[in-house]
Amino acid sequence: MALLSPSPIEKLLAAPAPAAAASCGDEKSAKALEFIEEVTKNTDSVQEKVLEEILRQNADTEYLKRFGLNGSTDRHTFKSKIPVVTYEDLQPDIQRIANGDRSPIFCSYPISEFLTSSGTSAGERKLMPFIHQELDRRQLLYSLLMPVMNQYVPDLDKGKALHFLFVKAETKTPGGLVARPVLTSYYKSEHFKNRPFDPYNVYTSPNEAILCPDSFQSMYTQMLCGLIMRLQVLRVGAVFASGLLRAIRFLQLNWQDLCNDISTGTLSPKITDPSIRECMAKLLKPDPELADFITAECSGENWERIITRIWPNTKYLDVIVTGAMAQYIPTLDYYSGGLPKACTMYGSSECYFGLNLRPISDPSEVSYTIMPNMGYFEFIPHDDSSPLTLSRDSPPPLVDLADVEVGKSYELVITTYCGLNRYRVGDILEVTGFHNAAPEFRFVRRKNVLLSIDSDKTDESELQRGIDNASVLLKEFNTTVVEYTSYADTKSIPGHYVIYWELMMKNASCPPTNEVLNQCCLAMEESLNSVYRQGRVADNSIGPLEIRVVKNGTFEELMDYAISRGASINQYKVPRCVSFTPIMELLDSRVLSVHFSPAAPHWTPERRAPAMQ
Ligand code: AMP
Repeated sequence: MALLSPSPIEKLLAAPAPAAAASCGDEKSAKALEFIEEVTKNTDSVQEKVLEEILRQNADTEYLKRFGLNGSTDRHTFKSKIPVVTYEDLQPDIQRIANGDRSPIFCSYPISEFLTSSGTSAGERKLMPFIHQELDRRQLLYSLLMPVMNQYVPDLDKGKALHFLFVKAETKTPGGLVARPVLTSYYKSEHFKNRPFDPYNVYTSPNEAILCPDSFQSMYTQMLCGLIMRLQVLRVGAVFASGLLRAIRFLQLNWQDLCNDISTGTLSPKITDPSIRECMAKLLKPDPELADFITAECSGENWERIITRIWPNTKYLDVIVTGAMAQYIPTLDYYSGGLPKACTMYGSSECYFGLNLRPISDPSEVSYTIMPNMGYFEFIPHDDSSPLTLSRDSPPPLVDLADVEVGKSYELVITTYCGLNRYRVGDILEVTGFHNAAPEFRFVRRKNVLLSIDSDKTDESELQRGIDNASVLLKEFNTTVVEYTSYADTKSIPGHYVIYWELMMKNASCPPTNEVLNQCCLAMEESLNSVYRQGRVADNSIGPLEIRVVKNGTFEELMDYAISRGASINQYKVPRCVSFTPIMELLDSRVLSVHFSPAAPHWTPERRAPAMQ
């Protein structure tokens, strides 16, 4: 099977499905399922071929030559010569590309843009080199999702999807390459904008709304369209659970304006984007009856099951609720009356990995099958109690995709067509079973992430830096932070970070003022990474940071509690993030004062200059 040059099945999958030809759609679905069977049955040989293709494609790159690969394309030579790396190892080379070096450093194809990952390095989004050719491979994975879903949910071609999709700000690197998040890149691509009609994938949102960079106008229009077409909606979703809940919150805040538009058939003057106004002029017709219905549903106090009340034909929610998003499951259940939640896909800026072959499974049972044609995958055995240190002198025992074992956990390492070689993604996965010869993985967690509300990922050192910077404001009050922990509070929408502080005041008669403690919240936010600050400023996906000052002795009580539950007194460490209910209750019962960030932190799409290498 030639994977770089498309196979007949890949060609058929990429071809448009003519609107009227249902049988062709069925044929495409059947071919998609056949394709999944074919690649998963031949996992190891497909992987071997993928590596061979990648190494042949990139044989003349500076990176592979640097490690003396000499044009070899076999696994053994590759594994013996090419080191396992992290983003920080690649950063100097990535910076050269960002600065304008167009020589083939990682990839023989020209780098068309950078995808900006939600994972950060030195506080800024990681820059992932991307080649235009990769869009076809990613499109292929997308094309498999509905054929899989159709096996479980019938008649999805009889209606539409209310799927909230957004583009985010983009910027240019000093060398002139565009840098933007992966989905922004995809939605702006011809692959998405001019996608062929697919009866199984018709969105209520017009492209004009999806592509509007103003998040308020985009959300408003997408919600308005969803309301107008409410009876046609068969699934409701967003990429991540947090995004769907943000849409519900938006409805809570804006239903009056939306109903006014529906009732009068005119678009709110708040929507100024000319292309949206033009497209909505064709869609909006006065419909006072619909406006009255939505007013009746939204004006009450009770928002339980609001999704099924407004969109009664919804068969499932299309949202990722694995990983950090699991914290939103109870709230989603509340608003949807427990509709199934389909986690369809697992991917990243670096590479799209695979899909969930049983998308209507319970969130706790979701497993993703990595598709062997997407890249070359290796796995570092992972054991929390004895973390492996990788060094070039003692090559780590990396395991191939076909050889992982059920019940074991691994860290994912990828080699991609875009030119990443043996790159550690940072995700920990556990093997739950096999589909044919392809392993299925439960997403366990991302390494080193302490707090996450939306796509932000804050690690322990970032939190510590935030505490250090905020503490500076306490100096004039002779006060220090003696202990702290944190909590991602997702009860309110948007969610926000809560930091518990125990303070030591040397001069009790002059405690830090409320104003100063509020400023401490802002100082912490200013120290957090750019994805966090973007969520606060541009996306409104994260609420103001909160500090809760607790009584002296609270953290000692916390330790006593942990020891009473079996923790070793010698090894006890204050947890820097908590979520266990009894611990939350203990902390909250000792709160002396509560403080919120009084303003949004600073954020612009521009990246901060990288530190000197
Ligand atoms: P990004 O690089 O910003 O595109 O983020 C990619 C990361 O998001 C992955 O490496 C995972 O940590 C996380 N992610 C993506 N898809 C899923 C999923 N289906 N379940 C859990 N986490 C996911």
